[in-house]
Amino acid sequence: MKTFEFIRPGDSAAAIATAAQAKTAQQGADVRFLAGGTTLIDLMKLNVETPARLLDINRLPLDKIETAADGGLKIGATVRNSDLANHATVRRDYAVLSQAVLAGASAQLRNMATTAGNLLQRTRCPYYRDTAMPCNKREPGTGCPAITGSNRTLAVLGTSEHCIATNPSDMCVAMAALEATIHVEGSKGSRAIPIGDFHLLPGNTPHRETVLEPGDLITHVTLPPPVTGSKQLYLKLRDRASYEFALASAAVVITLAGQNVSQARIALGGVGTKPWRAPEAEAALVGQPADEANFRRAAEAAMRNAQPQSHNRFKIELARRCLAHALKMAVG
Ligand SMILES: Cc1cc2nc3c(=O)[nH]c(=O)nc-3n(C[C@H](O)[C@H](O)[C@H](O)COP(=O)(O)OP(=O)(O)OC[C@H]3O[C@@H](n4cnc5c(N)ncnc54)[C@H](O)[C@@H]3O)c2cc1C
Ligand code: SF4
Repeated sequence: MKTFEFIRPGDSAAAIATAAQAKTAQQGADVRFLAGGTTLIDLMKLNVETPARLLDINRLPLDKIETAADGGLKIGATVRNSDLANHATVRRDYAVLSQAVLAGASAQLRNMATTAGNLLQRTRCPYYRDTAMPCNKREPGTGCPAITGSNRTLAVLGTSEHCIATNPSDMCVAMAALEATIHVEGSKGSRAIPIGDFHLLPGNTPHRETVLEPGDLITHVTLPPPVTGSKQLYLKLRDRASYEFALASAAVVITLAGQNVSQARIALGGVGTKPWRAPEAEAALVGQPADEANFRRAAEAAMRNAQPQSHNRFKIELARRCLAHALKMAVG
């Protein structure tokens, strides 16, 4: 691991001012915020991330979960994943989020990992994490060996000829279905970014993963007021029952009026290059009977644009079954 300067800023303004001196907030950033460290320190040990300065934000007052003015929920950036998943309001009103967080990593990791860090966790593509290999995300212009190589776990939605890496987060999938907003403070002021606009598709710049600029500090995430009467579920399918990333997952927030679906918000994990909202599936459900035939139709709509790689075609049917089963379990 390269040597680095460790800084503990006294407040958010000092943290932002120092981070704003970085040349990028994306891959290769020379200044990084340090939260739980469960992504960043791993990547530093592998020399995939080599920041010259680390800004420890753990003592900033960003660790509260509070009711927002509009009746929604405000989740501080440094709230630990375990505290988020076990918070009484989250368990009651945003159950899909609690389930998604608990489906991720291990108890020890969740005790360290934070809300903002989870939003910014990096892909598990094996080539990205191996500096002996080329990788457009790590070193722009070097190529993407995954396309002709090992791609079983990689994405089938949102890919480009330059990168097919999967976004690995479970939490983000639930937040996409809950229509979360990410709040950022930077050197030019604060802004609120809907989660659907926060992560970028790889296109021809896979090293740019989010809209963050140097100095941008995520301060909190807000969730809209809970959808009255909604049924929520997160279903994660993976190679082993715990401590494993999703091959396919589905977050479902569905409301019924009698036998019919009146509202549906759906997102998929494990299959997209970003947390994948599925508006086609939502449209296929609303106004229709909540039955297995329509759940399957919605799942087919969600995966209509999927493009398999040499080793991951199975993910398309797996994701369809995952979503259809999640919908069935949610309304059951
Ligand atoms: C073995 C293992 C298994 C895992 N399994 C899963 C899994 O199944 N599902 C899953 O979803 N995740 C999984 N994870 C990933 C884990 O959830 C993330 O590592 C964790 O959420 C990152 O949070 P952190 O606070 O530790 O982030 P850090 O490592 O501290 O930071 C990550 C990135 O976010 C930036 N950052 C942090 N806070 C802020 C902020 N406030 N503003 C701006 N930038 C910020 C940092 O600079 C860094 O670039 C696993 C991790 C490991 C190591
Ligand atoms: S899929 Fe993306 S992260 Fe993986 S090797 Fe290709 S460019 Fe790198």
